[in-house]
Amino acid sequence: MKKPGKMLAELLRHVTKRPATTQYPFKKIDVPATYRGRIVFISENCIGCKLCMRDCPASAITINKVGEEKIFEAVFDLDKCIYCAQCVLSCNKKALMTSTDFELAQITRKNLRMVYDAKPKPPAPPKEPVVAPPADAGAAPASPQA
Ligand code: SF4
Ligand code: SF4
Repeated sequence: MKKPGKMLAELLRHVTKRPATTQYPFKKIDVPATYRGRIVFISENCIGCKLCMRDCPASAITINKVGEEKIFEAVFDLDKCIYCAQCVLSCNKKALMTSTDFELAQITRKNLRMVYDAKPKPPAPPKEPVVAPPADAGAAPASPQA
């Protein structure tokens, strides 16, 4: 057991220090932009290859085709997800991203199933009109007049 004198010295030293904790949830700290919080799904970019499903170590993500169109929804089981971001690394279409959202607590487990709806892909940009070359293109330039 520490002697009272040592305890008092330690107490006084901590009186002048900033607290090591924050008054969460009343005061929130800023997490870094690279924080691995809730995974975000961008349906417009998804091609349905399911690489993310295959590589997820927790079987926490399901990609479903919706209707006859090639549009996809994603279902995340947030209670299974370990927030490793492997799915983000596996997706080469930038359809999955990490976010800084870490406040994911729910009262019931079924609320931890998050469905990102399928969204139609934006229309492809119009193709550049093909311009025919002028009729004399490729002909030798006229020789200068003497
Ligand atoms: S989210 Fe990415 S990896 Fe997963 S199915 Fe869609 S395109 Fe493939
Ligand atoms: S963050 Fe990890 S555990 Fe969560 S869905 Fe992606 S791959 Fe699976």
